[in-house]
This record gives sequence, structure tokens and C-alpha cells, in this order.
Amino acid sequence: MHINPIGIDPLDNELLRRKKVQLDILRLDEIHPVVSGNKWFKLQYYLIDATEKGYDSLLTFGGAYSNHIVATAYAARQHGFKATGIIRGEAPKIWSPTLLEATALGMELIFLPRKIFGTLKRNDFPEELEQRFGKHYIIPEGGYGKPGVRGAQEIMDTIKPRYYTHFVAAVGTGTTLTGILQSSKNDQQVVGISAMKNNHGLEAEIRHLYEKPLPERFYLFHDYHFDGFAKYNEALISFINTFYLNSSVPLDFVYTAKMMYGALDLVKKGFFPAGSSILTIHSGGLQGNRSLKEGLLRF
Ligand SMILES: *Cc1c(COP(=O)(O)O)cnc(C)c1O
Repeated sequence: MHINPIGIDPLDNELLRRKKVQLDILRLDEIHPVVSGNKWFKLQYYLIDATEKGYDSLLTFGGAYSNHIVATAYAARQHGFKATGIIRGEAPKIWSPTLLEATALGMELIFLPRKIFGTLKRNDFPEELEQRFGKHYIIPEGGYGKPGVRGAQEIMDTIKPRYYTHFVAAVGTGTTLTGILQSSKNDQQVVGISAMKNNHGLEAEIRHLYEKPLPERFYLFHDYHFDGFAKYNEALISFINTFYLNSSVPLDFVYTAKMMYGALDLVKKGFFPAGSSILTIHSGGLQGNRSLKEGLLRF
């Protein structure tokens, strides 16, 4: 798959100057129009593993607005796999742009009531999955897992990694953040901003992926979810629009807007010492903005 070069945009504003910190944005959103951001990195080793094990079809899980579903649908098609997407909840009357695009890319969608979805996606019952859906290579929801971490580690290969004192990323499953933690050095701080409300299991899930106790240089913040996963209010929309006007960088309302809001709030609160050089990861996800009412965003 062809990947565009990855750029870094510096952010400049009064707050950053006053606090004497540098904040750059790693534009993973620009690497590909469909398999955007961190999803490309997370998927690559699953695809290699599926090929090596001789599978011709992939099966994965996600919600009706999942960036991971679209990315998997696209990557499957590019690599000659059939793809099945198990979607959380009953089939909606009006399909989201995400579901329409996944179908257009050839993914077969199966809708499951939340409870059954929740049990099956945990992957504890591979036999049951095979019985129900046939033989497929299973990619866990959101690409959560060791192959996903391995791919996410390569995000660091795209930059001069020693330069930064802090990395900040949006967190869903924590797979991307774990990859960054793995590939960063002991004197670099790694900061995750959870997109979910009260996701108390997150830290344990990250520990499971990391396979070691989490170091002191690792931070997870749960205060920037704007009342829940994929929830938004006027303040968030206005933040996205102002940010775009000032920087020309578009953010998505589910992950990267909340991450950037959190990063700047942490700057305001003095979390980053003067002299810090912070790299925020723009993990993509802009396709999700299509579910917002037209006209809400200025891009
Ligand atoms: C999926 C996604 C994330 C979450 O990544 P994890 O590895 O699951 O933590 C973050 N940002 C965007 C834009 C995403 O689409």
C-alpha cells in the first residue's frame, strides 16, 4: 500500500510561548486517505501474520463509526483478503458513512446485539466464532494486541525520536500508546489521553500489552472525554474550529480533538516543565467527522 510521507507541524501560540514549551504535531492523518493515522501501523503485522498462516479472509469487530472497521475493509481489499466486520448493536435504519464505506469496500457486515458482541469480541471463544462465522483470521477490536503494538512501535521510526521529551497520544484500546512506550527511551515521558469515560480497565489492558510494570514516565489521563466516547458539545466543536483557524490542522471529534484539548490544558496547568519539547500524535480518524451535522466544522 502506498503511504504518503509523514510531516511534523509545529504549533505556535501565546500559551506555549508563555510556558516555554514546544509542541509539535505528528501528522499521521496525512499518510493515507482511508487507512488513516495509527490504523495503518496497527494493522500491518496482522496482515502479514494472516498471509503467513494462509488465511484468505479477515474478521474483525467495531462500532458503527469505527475507524478501525473502515481501515480494515480497505487494507483487506488492498491485500486480497475477504473481510467480515462484526458490528456492535442492531442494524441501524440509516447507515453511518463508516458502514456505507466499509460495505462499498467489500466488507460483509454482521450486526450483533451489544451483549453477544461483547462476549464474542473478547476472543475467548475462537471455536464459537468459527462455528458462527466460518474460518477467518481474527483481528481483535481496534487492533488491540501484540501485533498491533509491534506495528505502532514503527511510528517512532518516522521521526527523530531522541529530540522529544514528551509524547502525547489519544487512547482507545491503548495499543498505539503501548507501541510508543515500547519504542521510547527511559528519559522520555509518554502521556495518554483516554477518549472514554471511566475506562477503569484501560491501565490493566495496557500493562497486559506492555508485559512489564508500567514505568513512572507513563501517564494516563481520564478527564478529557467530554462526557463519553464519541460525545461532543459546543465547547469541543468550537475548539476544533479555532484550532483549525490557527494551525490549519483538522482534528477529529472522537480522539484527536480531545487529545489536543487535553495536551493544551496540561500545558496550561504546568504539567510540562519549561523547556519541554512535546510531540502530539495526530492519529487520524477524520473520516469519523462525517457523522457530524454538516456545517458544524469549518473544514
Ligand atoms: C483508533 C484510534 C485511536 C485509538 O488507538 P488505540 O491504539 O486503540 O489506543 C486514536 N486515535 C484515532 C484517530 C483512532 O482512530
